Amino acid sequence: MSLAARTLPPSEIRGAEYRGAEYRGRAASPGKVFGPLVIVRTAETRARTAGPPAAERVALERAVALASADLAALVAAADGDAADILEFQLALAGDTALTEAAFAAIADGVAADVAWAAALDAMIADYAQADDAYFRARAADLTDLRDRVTAVLTGAAAARSSLPENAILLADDLTPSRFLALDWIGRGIALMAGSPASHVAMLARARGVPMVVRLGPLPLSDGDRLLLDGEAGRLVPAITAEEARRLAAEAEDAAEALAINSAAATRPAVTADGDPVQILINVADPAELDGVDPAICEGVGLARTELIFDGASLRTLPDEARQLYAYRALLDWAGDRPVTIRTLDAGGDKPLPGYTVANETNSFLGLRGVRLSLRHRDVFRVQLRALLQAAVNGDLRILIPMVSVPAEMAEVRALVNDVARDLQAAGIPHRVPPVGMMVEVPAAALMLERFDTDFVSIGSNDLTQYVMAASRDCAELDALSDAGNPAVLALIKSVVTQAAACDIPVSLCGDAGGDPALTAKLLDTGLRSLSMAPVAIGGVKAAVAAYPGGKP
Ligand code: PEP
Ligand code: MG
Repeated sequence: MSLAARTLPPSEIRGAEYRGAEYRGRAASPGKVFGPLVIVRTAETRARTAGPPAAERVALERAVALASADLAALVAAADGDAADILEFQLALAGDTALTEAAFAAIADGVAADVAWAAALDAMIADYAQADDAYFRARAADLTDLRDRVTAVLTGAAAARSSLPENAILLADDLTPSRFLALDWIGRGIALMAGSPASHVAMLARARGVPMVVRLGPLPLSDGDRLLLDGEAGRLVPAITAEEARRLAAEAEDAAEALAINSAAATRPAVTADGDPVQILINVADPAELDGVDPAICEGVGLARTELIFDGASLRTLPDEARQLYAYRALLDWAGDRPVTIRTLDAGGDKPLPGYTVANETNSFLGLRGVRLSLRHRDVFRVQLRALLQAAVNGDLRILIPMVSVPAEMAEVRALVNDVARDLQAAGIPHRVPPVGMMVEVPAAALMLERFDTDFVSIGSNDLTQYVMAASRDCAELDALSDAGNPAVLALIKSVVTQAAACDIPVSLCGDAGGDPALTAKLLDTGLRSLSMAPVAIGGVKAAVAAYPGGKP
């Protein structure tokens, strides 16, 4: 939630001060919708009056059986991911370990609905606190099952079965079965809690439903008209009729652009005179790939592992097994295509408690990326061990962030070889994959020929902020923070030329790669490989097709 939203007292929410304010959450599924808010509050529960324990036990058994029958019918009608999720719930419903705790409470005189909810709540709390995102995401499935059975036991009113046109559903969280029961065409989802890695987020991406999560508590009312922006992760209320018109037009433009983009995304990326351009995707979490058609790209150009570890601290960083699981998920999706996984790029605007340095005077110029990895070698070794093992499963490449001087790459190489020796000695299958470097520090961009690197990926976000001396997180410096500035482009061109001279593949993975307005300028530098968010591919491929062609 934005600072503006958090600091406004509710009495001022509709006042002039509120104008221009917006609520910030996390983008979970791209697209924009403008429409009325529909708030789904926690269901009103009509608690049962406890009957004799034997009767309560039968009631619970019957409710579980009815809920299972409903689920089985939904499974039969669903396909793909939806069927998998519902099958998982069906399996949970048949698990006697779940009902045992409830039966024990019933024997002590507790009503069936209370006993069931208490048993499930304890399990949900366990799952919700798990370190592993996979298990945390299962908490929503258990909640779904809890509510299904409780609804049978309490006779609670059926959930809302339809939403108004262009509605934005606002809820604390949303269960997969509630999602699957509603028609989402033209509608969107705003969640106060939730996670981009949840099943619901995965389903939303797969079905093109815009979604923002982790908005926090919001002082909004049913019927408020808002723009939901699933790309930037924001909710923008319309106070005046003029704002409503502007936001509605923004949503319409986005819907049009999305339709054009997705139609264009599967076409080959070739310039007007037939020069092919490699298009790769940037990912933050393997879960993001579930809705992405592999046919739109040639592989993963950048997996930002610090975002896979989002919300962790040094103490809770994923261990080797969990990292291996996440890296293999990326490789499975890519098949035989390349997957470039960047080592932890914490620091700067991505703090990691206990690992990054708090209160640095200028964190973007401080300890971040490889500078920190080389200081926390225990953490770095765990990541390298997982990467070398995953490399056996596909075309994995390791990318090192924030490299400034050749000595850093030399130290990384030595560590990679050392880790490989350890794995060898322990008889653990592994492979030493290509090790490349991000070029995002001008010192590296100017002296590329001196670095021992197998490939290069240009980080135009940081390269721009360091060339322009304009912090990338300062909205007022937007005009300076421009990767299209001739100085930045000249440096990119120099990197491309040096890489060609050294016969090293070069790509670009900063946001500029996904900006169709910059595509021609980037192709002018000689670049022929761009990595971007999947949603940007259609627009960039259209810009590539319009490019005059011919290498400069
Ligand atoms: C970049 O700097 O352009 C880049 C891709 O890295 P990040 O945005 O994660 O810093
Ligand atoms: Mg960077």
